[in-house]
Amino acid sequence: MQGQMMTLPLTTPSLLEHAERYHGDTEIVSCTLEGPVHRYTYADAHRRARQAAHALVRLGTGPGSRVGTLAWNGYRHFELYYAISGTGAITHTINPRLFPEQVAWIINDAKDEVVCFDLSFAALVEAIAADCPGVRHWVAMTDRAHMPALRIANLLCYEELLAAESADFAWPALDEHSAAALCYTSGTTGNPKGVLYSHRATLLHALASALPDALALSACDVVAPVVPMFHVNAWGLPYSAPLVGAKLVFPGACLDGESIFSLFERERVTFSAGVPTVWLSLQQHMRQHASRLPHLRRMIVGGAACPPAMMRSYEQEFGIQLQHAWGMTELSPMGTVNTLKASHLGLDDEARFAIGVKQGRPPFGMDLKTVDDHGNELPRDGKTAGALLVRGHWVVEQYFGSEASPLVDGWFPTGDVATLDPDGFMQITDRAKDVIKSGGEWISSIDLENIAMAHPAVAEAAALGIAHPKWDERPLLVVVLKPGQAVSREALLAHYAGKVARFCYPDDVVFIEALPHTATGKVSKVLLREQLRDYRWPTPSQREVTS
Ligand code: AMP
Repeated sequence: MQGQMMTLPLTTPSLLEHAERYHGDTEIVSCTLEGPVHRYTYADAHRRARQAAHALVRLGTGPGSRVGTLAWNGYRHFELYYAISGTGAITHTINPRLFPEQVAWIINDAKDEVVCFDLSFAALVEAIAADCPGVRHWVAMTDRAHMPALRIANLLCYEELLAAESADFAWPALDEHSAAALCYTSGTTGNPKGVLYSHRATLLHALASALPDALALSACDVVAPVVPMFHVNAWGLPYSAPLVGAKLVFPGACLDGESIFSLFERERVTFSAGVPTVWLSLQQHMRQHASRLPHLRRMIVGGAACPPAMMRSYEQEFGIQLQHAWGMTELSPMGTVNTLKASHLGLDDEARFAIGVKQGRPPFGMDLKTVDDHGNELPRDGKTAGALLVRGHWVVEQYFGSEASPLVDGWFPTGDVATLDPDGFMQITDRAKDVIKSGGEWISSIDLENIAMAHPAVAEAAALGIAHPKWDERPLLVVVLKPGQAVSREALLAHYAGKVARFCYPDDVVFIEALPHTATGKVSKVLLREQLRDYRWPTPSQREVTS
């Protein structure tokens, strides 16, 4: 017997319809490339999204068409998220920080028919347009007065397109299983792979991520997605903020510590999300200027492991909770968020902090397990590390354009190595390819990096496994010092005493000016290895000292 309840499809336009109807006067504030800060409301955004939908249909896109965006976080990008997927086309967010050849490759692989771009990427568009013959229209996301003079055919002006259309557009009935958005993985090895999000997965992800034990979003929040809308849909915030009716604040291209600080202060931001490097620059700014953000209560940090020292300093110096979350492009991206359980509330600060540094626990809809090399499930004891596998309503089943399934017995292998504890908290010990394998034992590069970054003179650190004639690999620590700070190699190595087993100590330290980062803000160990290819070990190894 079937249930007898309504079946309303879980599709993205319903989020903006809800936001207009119940939070129509709630503000969306954007830093713009043209200069002034732009302010409007959810009602305005919905009206303009409908105008943009008309324009896209007039440009010949329809169900299944891919429409690319090369854009920062801003109100036009937000409108396009809804306008594109609301017509049944697919919002393909492209990471403009990739090399131009990679951007062109991704546009061609996705078969984008139209690409909308922010003014900052005009030169990029001019450089790649000839290599993207499938793109019928390039739309500059600005008004006539700011149109760039580009030597490309088919250049259109976003504001002119909208001005020509009425807001009288009825969102078509869409199958909730149809595709809404497309995002490519950063592709540190091989070509990037496309992940095609369905409307249903996007809605369920938005619902689950807004829950109190996940991002805990509400209509009283002022949400500033610092994580770019081209990095896994800004972790779903352009969907979950309208779902709860939170005010949205988009930082545009201004992502340095000072700009973020003044935006957060002026708009009274209560919640934000970003990668560790962004929070590092905000922290440096607040320290230098002895400034505070009294309205900011919580910031999500993810995309890479957050050094515990930074979490501690945010909480103790600034009264801001830096909350760890873990995810992947393949997971829409939320896998886990670190929120405590009732049994943890009576713990002292140190014990709570020890839990807080883990990547967190999954909300309903996401399931995790760890396995050994033979696929056997490992105990959830908080100690045994193994390959992390996931399954859930918003996890990839197949990559875009690929016949082969990445799944293993219905589970997605994440490529991360992790522990799971009896409370369900997951802790990443490494990326499988970054684990340092020394004499048959595994050394966590993240542990070594976190210890280094707890040293007051260290700004950033990366640990690499470098080939060793006797031990297979040994850890090398690469360090960037804080401005005006100094510490010797010996003092840094001594800093490891008592914090990890002796055989895990790095064998050597290399000081460099800056670490290379990937287009999504992670330390690029591939580029770092390349930079250090002439490095040779000193002797003896810490391993010899101990054995
Ligand atoms: P991406 O698909 O670009 O978002 O990259 C996903 C990968 O980033 C994951 O598989 C992890 O290796 C890493 N990652 C994401 N969040 C965290 C986190 N909180 N701690 C450690 N690593 C993370």
